[in-house]
Amino acid sequence: MNTVANLSPATGQVPDHRLSIVVPMYNEVENVEPFVTAVHEALADYPFPWELLIVNDGSRDGTQQALDEQARLRGPHVRPIHLWRNFRQTAAMQAGIDAARGDVIVTLDGDLQNDPKDIPKLVARLLREDLDLVAGWRQNRQDGLWLRKVPSRIANRLIRKITQLEFQDLGCSLKAYRATVLKRVSLYGEMHRFIPAWMATVTSPARMAEEPVSHHARTRGESKYGISRTLRVVLDLLAVNFFLRFSGRPGHFFGGLGLGIGLLGGAILSYLAVLKMFGEQIGGRPLLWLGFFCVLGGLQFLTTGVLAELLIRIYYDRGDVAPYHTTQGPQLAAESAWHQT
Ligand code: UDP
Ligand code: MG
Repeated sequence: MNTVANLSPATGQVPDHRLSIVVPMYNEVENVEPFVTAVHEALADYPFPWELLIVNDGSRDGTQQALDEQARLRGPHVRPIHLWRNFRQTAAMQAGIDAARGDVIVTLDGDLQNDPKDIPKLVARLLREDLDLVAGWRQNRQDGLWLRKVPSRIANRLIRKITQLEFQDLGCSLKAYRATVLKRVSLYGEMHRFIPAWMATVTSPARMAEEPVSHHARTRGESKYGISRTLRVVLDLLAVNFFLRFSGRPGHFFGGLGLGIGLLGGAILSYLAVLKMFGEQIGGRPLLWLGFFCVLGGLQFLTTGVLAELLIRIYYDRGDVAPYHTTQGPQLAAESAWHQT
């Protein structure tokens, strides 16, 4: 069955939409032309307007020139965005998401490990089933076993536990999103792999699904990651866990801690005060020091809690503060910049 045909407005199955494809690239000069070509082949009959945003994440190998060349050759629906230094994959994706104008956003890697041919399939599922996220699932992942597949299997299991979301392959970059929902979460660190967890804070898990996609080994260029990323992912996992639990009321976490420790200190000091009333010497006792420390520490945690509450309020009130800087803004958002078949 031809998936693109299924997308046709004539069938009445899929509502009209515009599609933005967002791709981060760092030192991928050899992949630029093959990737842009592969996307055009995959979307040759795509019946809706689409644009391709490729975020050059501070490459130093000619990726920038190659992308500008593709934009010239292919037309304004190919929109390179150049970050002035390497901000890493997540921030690069966020830059593309911010510039995306479509109703549907698809993200994928620019090294052809994800297959652009899967794009129409994910979008069709998203729109037909009225979902907010359809995540690719690399059932046949073509990466090293010990450095990549095993750590990511462990990470996926941990993330499932923490988030209670049934996703098998969170690390797959190929995902389709409803733009309005994706734009309500901001990504930084290595957090693009926790997007379903973040999305679950603004939409129901029932509106997110996983769909098997192809995966290929890298044939050009090099992977930008090694084992150090797995460590960063674990640290991010702890941060995500903390945020998901306490982002609403961080004061509850610090306040509880402060109150507990403060009360302990109060109890110790009261005990010592009673001893003193009965005429005992309490001057040099370690317990006295402990009592003071607990009271002071408790007060510290309480004030930290108040500060955290203030920060959280500012966080939710803040305007759009992007976690990256561009040297060159996205191309003019002209209607003519869409690819239309
Ligand atoms: N990437 C990026 N910035 C970085 C590292 C990677 O934009 O600092 C891009 C990279 O060009 C590729 C995607 O993110 O398009 C995935 O990177 P890579 O293929 O190295 O990761 P792997 O497939 O090995 O997990
Ligand atoms: Mg790759």
